[in-house]
Amino acid sequence: MKNKTFPSVSTLKGVGPRVAERLARLQIFTIQDLLFHLPIRYQDRTRIRAIATLRSGDECVVIGTVEHSEVVYRKRRMLLVSVDDGTGKVLLRFFYFNNAQKNNLARGVNIRCFGEIRQGLKGPEMVHPEYEIQHPDDPAKVEDHLTPIYPATEGLHQLSLRRLTSQALHCVKSEEFPELDLLPVPPEIDGHRVSITDALAFVHRPPPDADTEALTSGKHAMQRRLAFEELLAQQLSLSKSRLQLQKQAAISIAPIAKLYQQLINNLEFELTNAQQRVITTVFSDLKNNYPMLRLVQGDVGSGKTLVAIAACLQVIEAGYQAVVMAPTEILAEQHLRNFSKWLEPMGIRLAWLSGKLTASKSREMKDLIASGTANAIVGTHALFQQDVEFKNLALVVIDEQHRFGVHQRLALREKGIQNNAHPHQLIMTATPIPRTLAMTAYADLDYSVIDELPPGRKPISTIAIPLARRHEVVKRVANACRNGQQAYWVCTLVEESEVLQCQAAEDVFSELSQLLQGVKVGLVHGRMKGNEKDAVMLAFEKREIDLLVATTVIEVGVDVANASLMIIENAERLGLAQLHQLRGRVGRGSVESSCVLLFSPPLTENAKLRIDTLRNTNDGFKIAQVDLEIRGPGEVLGTRQTGMLQLRIADIMRDQDLIPKVQATAKLIQEEYPQNVDALILRWLGESIEFGQV
Ligand code: ADP
Ligand code: MG
Repeated sequence: MKNKTFPSVSTLKGVGPRVAERLARLQIFTIQDLLFHLPIRYQDRTRIRAIATLRSGDECVVIGTVEHSEVVYRKRRMLLVSVDDGTGKVLLRFFYFNNAQKNNLARGVNIRCFGEIRQGLKGPEMVHPEYEIQHPDDPAKVEDHLTPIYPATEGLHQLSLRRLTSQALHCVKSEEFPELDLLPVPPEIDGHRVSITDALAFVHRPPPDADTEALTSGKHAMQRRLAFEELLAQQLSLSKSRLQLQKQAAISIAPIAKLYQQLINNLEFELTNAQQRVITTVFSDLKNNYPMLRLVQGDVGSGKTLVAIAACLQVIEAGYQAVVMAPTEILAEQHLRNFSKWLEPMGIRLAWLSGKLTASKSREMKDLIASGTANAIVGTHALFQQDVEFKNLALVVIDEQHRFGVHQRLALREKGIQNNAHPHQLIMTATPIPRTLAMTAYADLDYSVIDELPPGRKPISTIAIPLARRHEVVKRVANACRNGQQAYWVCTLVEESEVLQCQAAEDVFSELSQLLQGVKVGLVHGRMKGNEKDAVMLAFEKREIDLLVATTVIEVGVDVANASLMIIENAERLGLAQLHQLRGRVGRGSVESSCVLLFSPPLTENAKLRIDTLRNTNDGFKIAQVDLEIRGPGEVLGTRQTGMLQLRIADIMRDQDLIPKVQATAKLIQEEYPQNVDALILRWLGESIEFGQV
């Protein structure tokens, strides 16, 4: 029971229970679903290509005469058929063939074949082309439209999908499908009003004279017509979940702000304007009787922690609990230190939960949380455990959100629901989100930016040095440390294995300890115990360690203001966002800082782009933009797995120019045609949309 208006796919020819089950795997239940199952690319079988004009990678139709055919025995037995069309020759290569095939492909026979051209040793080749024998009196037939290639699934291949979509397109033409023309707001793209049915017919079966270049790059007007509508549906769906959120209840937090004032008075510095602005916004969100859902973005070092603390204080003052969750042990511990430093003097009890606590300690903490003795709770994902219960949780702060999955966030939110009241949520990230993305992917969240760094920060100068000159870098580190500077040396490995990562760090640690007489070298990595790590970090903070060798565990959040030199080994292996995060560990104090990216040549094109970008700018937004271009939004936002942003035809980067109009149209539809909202969402997103509940 997917949709009342549209007939089920089972009404189509060739769809029995087995095919229906396979279609269901592609989320296709109705004829409408089939119509919106759009091609990912096209093949051109509308023209016969002259062999002489073929290039490697071309997928094309060729007609010619078999000039030679033989079975050869190399590593494997294979049938080689040389075909000549008068302009040149192409070699067909078959590894699987039967005798009939072999006999049919005899010298003098005319064949028509389709396949991808590869450059072989002796000229162009096609491996296992599709082919047909042409009889002399047959007209040289070609397809009358470009061939669509659909997302497929096991047991349901292109040919079946083509047959089914043809039937669906036919239905639309012949039957009444009122819903299909449901877009009374004219989205006049490029000044043309194109009906949805025309756009669908075109995109499923583009005519031979279609602009293939535009089609291949997804920029054809017909594709943009559909992309526009898809983005519109996304937008409508996100604002719908936002409205739903606002219907949920939350505890309204009175803005007393006495504790906050006390905090400000105790700080040895002034809050930046940006921090103050975001804090004011958060306080006003907390006053609402529906849950806050705010994403705060601030570049590394912009002072997000104080925003979190301010929000917590407000909630605690009103008599409720606040929890702060960090993605790593080290970062959680650091929050704990900050919270103790600032909250304990005000008489606020803290609790702390991490996976590494002993059973009895953890029990003790859980009791503090359940009884409400502790008001401020800091921890890692250990906070998700089933037996963690809160007395009266009113605020969840999630730091460095991209490390957490949507489901983890949901779990914590669920825990906080009491008497139907949802906790407020503050999500903090250092990943800058370009505006277009924020407006689409995060349209269901409120969004604030801390767009100002505390005064006195100096830009970090970044250089890239090939591994062959590593010894010079070692010397430079030694000099810096002997002059009272502190440095990080980060070891990276491609392998996901934490064991190997830590091994690499241990090796570098012993190497540098021996090489650098008079320099105090420390080591921190993910396999050390929490208290060991803590001790090392503390020693580094107290300047008892000059040089800290580390794995990428220090990537997020670690804050030692005196550290001014960052060495990243094998920098070419890391992504831009990660490099930017790592580099952000220095440049936090008032000293000039630098970052050395050690790389092993040769660099791939992308690695070179990453390193150049980092050398040229400290601006998190510029870096994010390049990152987005290299990796795409799904990767950047870490939403690959969550089902968010799985677009059928639109591409946020490519189609970003459509977004302002999408937003305006969404607003218009909500106001003038509210009855169309659900139909549009259903058409493009189906019924499987849960992500609004982040
Ligand atoms: P991030 O946004 O990366 O989490 P933090 O909250 O860790 O940044 O802050 C980085 C450092 O800057 C901390 O040592 C913090 O005490 C300091 N800091 C925060 N706000 C200010 C400010 N307004 N002026 C000076 N230093 C600040
Ligand atoms: Mg932080």
